Amino acid sequence: MQGLMMDVPLSISSLIRHAALYHGDTEIVTRTVEGPIHRYNWGEAHRRAQQLANALKRLGVQPGDRLATLAWNTHRHLECYYAISGSGAVLHTINPRLFPEQIRYIVNHADDRWIFVDLSFVPVLEKLAADFPRVKGYVVLTDDAHLPQTSLPNVVSYESLIAPEAPEFDWPTFDERTASSLCYTSGTTGNPKGVLYSHRSTVIHSYCVCAPDALGISSRDTILPVVPMFHVNAWGCAYSTAMAGSKLVFPGAKLDGASLHELFETEKVTCTLGVPTVWLGLLAHMAETGKTFSTLRRLVVGGSAAPLSMIVALEEDHGIDVIHAWGMTEMSPIGTTGVLKGKMLALPKGDRYKLKMKQGRVVFGVEVKIVDDTGKRLPHDGVAQGELLVRGPWITSGYFEDEAASRAAFDSEGWFRTGDICTVDADGFVQITDRAKDIIKSGGEWISSIDLENAAVGHPGVAEAAVIGVHHPKWQERPLLIVKAKKGAALTREALMGYLGEKVAKWWLPDDIVFVDELPHTATGKLMKSKLREEFGHHRLPTA
Ligand code: AMP
Repeated sequence: MQGLMMDVPLSISSLIRHAALYHGDTEIVTRTVEGPIHRYNWGEAHRRAQQLANALKRLGVQPGDRLATLAWNTHRHLECYYAISGSGAVLHTINPRLFPEQIRYIVNHADDRWIFVDLSFVPVLEKLAADFPRVKGYVVLTDDAHLPQTSLPNVVSYESLIAPEAPEFDWPTFDERTASSLCYTSGTTGNPKGVLYSHRSTVIHSYCVCAPDALGISSRDTILPVVPMFHVNAWGCAYSTAMAGSKLVFPGAKLDGASLHELFETEKVTCTLGVPTVWLGLLAHMAETGKTFSTLRRLVVGGSAAPLSMIVALEEDHGIDVIHAWGMTEMSPIGTTGVLKGKMLALPKGDRYKLKMKQGRVVFGVEVKIVDDTGKRLPHDGVAQGELLVRGPWITSGYFEDEAASRAAFDSEGWFRTGDICTVDADGFVQITDRAKDIIKSGGEWISSIDLENAAVGHPGVAEAAVIGVHHPKWQERPLLIVKAKKGAALTREALMGYLGEKVAKWWLPDDIVFVDELPHTATGKLMKSKLREEFGHHRLPTA
């Protein structure tokens, strides 16, 4: 027997319609790429999104057409989100930090028809435009006064594109499984792979993100997403804030500690989201200036493991509740979030931090299993570690027009292989030990590069640390620690080894330490281990 409930399709346009109707006067503030602060509200954002939707119709954009953005977090980018997906086209957010060859590949692979680009990234596209035969034109996210001289063909400023249009648009209704947006993963090997979200997956994921045990986004919050809108839709923020009716603050191109802190204070931000490297920059600024936060209470960290020293500094020095989260582009992205359960609040501080260092617990809507090398399921006892597989309504079922990659990504039961190695405990807390390809296999035992890196950055003289496995004649692989020291710190190999000796098991201790000026990062801010392996893979260990 079927239930007797309305079958109303879930749609992205319904999110902004709701925000405009009931939170129309709630502010959206942007530090624009041009410089000044821009201030309006959900009501005006909706009106301008409708103007853009009308403009897209005039340009002849068809349902399913891919329209790309190369843009910072700004109010104009937000309008693109809603106008493009809401009118039935597909928003393709491109990470501008990718290598030019990768951008060339994904624009053509996605078959993008128009590209919306921020002023900062016009030079990137000028070098590539000749290789984009199918792109019809470029919309620069600015007004005519700021439109630069450019070799890009068929260019128009965003403001002049939408100016003549009416601020009403009849958002179409369609199957909720219709594609809404596309984001390519910036893998370090092979071509980037496209993850194609739907209206249904996006709206259901937003409900999850707003739940109090997930990120708890509400109408009382002022949210500043540092995580870019080109990195998995700013972890869903562009949608969940509309669902909740939160105030939104966009940092534009300025992501340094001083600029962020200024916005946190002037706009009374309550919750912010970003990767660990951003928070390292912010904490360094706070330490240098002795500043405090007056309204910031929640900070979401993910994308890479958050070291204990960072969590402790944020919580104890600044009174912030750190939510450590884990997810992937393929998962929209949320899989686990680190909100402690009631029974955990009374635990001794050390035990609470042990839980906070884990990547969070499984949210409703995501199922997880861990398996060994033969695919056998392992227990969720917090000890057994294996590869993490997931399934759920906001997890990809295959890569966009990439059969080979899709075939390799799922097990025989249709679960998605994350490529992460982890433990899961009885409360659902997941602890990521490593990427499967980064874990160090030493004499039949595994050493977590993440744990070693976290231990190393706990040393006051270490700015950043990376650990890779290097060939060893006896043990197969042994850890090599590569360190960027803090400015002015007199850090020696012996002092750091001594420090680590008190933090990790003896057989985990790195066989050598190398000091470098900079560590390489991927376009989404993760340590680029492939580059380090290229450079240091043949390092001669003193123990070999
Ligand atoms: P991306 O698709 O770029 O968001 O990358 C997803 C990958 O980032 C995951 O498969 C993990 O390897 C890594 N990752 C994300 N969040 C965390 C975290 N909190 N701790 C450790 N690794 C993480």
